[in-house]
Amino acid sequence: MQYSHTKEKANEYASEALDRIHKEGLSKVPQNFELWYCYYAEADIEVVRAIDILIANKQKITDDTCAEIHQRFLSDTKENERVRQAGDQIQETIRGVKERVGNVKAITHEYSEMLQSASGRLSDRSSPEEMKETLKTVIGNTRSVLQQNQQLEEELERSTAVMQELQRDLELVRQQALTDGLTNLANRKAFDAELMRIAEESQREDMTFCLVLLDIDHFKSFNDTYGHQVGDQVLRLVAQALIDGVKGRDVAARYGGEEFAIILPQTTLQGGIKVADSLRKVVQGKELVNRNTGDTLGRVTLSGGVSEYVMGESLDKLVERSDSALYTAKHNGRNQIAAAPAKSEKKQA
Ligand code: GH3
Ligand code: MG
Ligand code: MG
Repeated sequence: MQYSHTKEKANEYASEALDRIHKEGLSKVPQNFELWYCYYAEADIEVVRAIDILIANKQKITDDTCAEIHQRFLSDTKENERVRQAGDQIQETIRGVKERVGNVKAITHEYSEMLQSASGRLSDRSSPEEMKETLKTVIGNTRSVLQQNQQLEEELERSTAVMQELQRDLELVRQQALTDGLTNLANRKAFDAELMRIAEESQREDMTFCLVLLDIDHFKSFNDTYGHQVGDQVLRLVAQALIDGVKGRDVAARYGGEEFAIILPQTTLQGGIKVADSLRKVVQGKELVNRNTGDTLGRVTLSGGVSEYVMGESLDKLVERSDSALYTAKHNGRNQIAAAPAKSEKKQA
């Protein structure tokens, strides 16, 4: 994270951060300081949003939650290193171009002065010899300026190509950081960020959304029977069913080992159950074939838990409700979807 504040501002943010750390009873470790400094300086919108959601949901702020947010948004990852390298390369390219443009400007200026003086020398009384000499100088200088301009043009083309490549690289880094390598679904980090974003959006627009958790049934014994590689093939197959089965703004993610999560914006509990159950049926309907041997491996099934967001509840609570519905589905015999009770039902209970 880069900070570029005046000394006065930096002092102000630092003392706000320290006060907050003291007030919340947090440890005075550098990560906590950086996190709260970043929050008060509003240096990272994601950090501000994550902390504001905790506060809005009246969740206790602990060393653990701070460490988690710091790890998620501020820790120095390999991707950050690559981004920094790309930044350095861009700076270097721009420096090179600036230098070349500066040179060409100086040369063009000299050229214009040379033209001025040549035109002064070309009076009516110039001898053909003098005219020839002057013309020679003009032609020579013109060639040199043309050459310089051509070099600049080539250099600009090269720089543009370098920057375009860096742009693609950066996009790839960003994508990789958010994608699960095995299944190509959104990874846990992307899921956490998307869940926060959608919860915030739903609160703002007073709209509901659903969270579906799906878990492959008896996957351990499947792995034990056929081996990890075939297990991975099954994970990809389930992931593909999810990719094909969700639409528009829905977010499908690999939540953990053989667990998947789907966030369904603007969807009621009934809608969520419908989506989850149709995915369950699709997966159940797929006959598994070992790609290497062609052997038939039978089928896998999914159990799922669905919960609809209750305005103001913490995201941990929402996940917990989906998870306990999933547990109910497992408990009731697997290969089925269970729904978490809505708030009103819970109140009556
Ligand atoms: P349940 O029906 O209760 O969900 O039973 P289960 O066997 O699916 O559940 P359990 O949590 O006991 O086992 C999950 C297994 O998933 C453990 C591990 O063998 C397997 N697994 C987790 N991640 C991966 C992975 O990335 N690749 C493969 N091949 N297997 C994985
Ligand atoms: Mg599991
Ligand atoms: Mg399982």
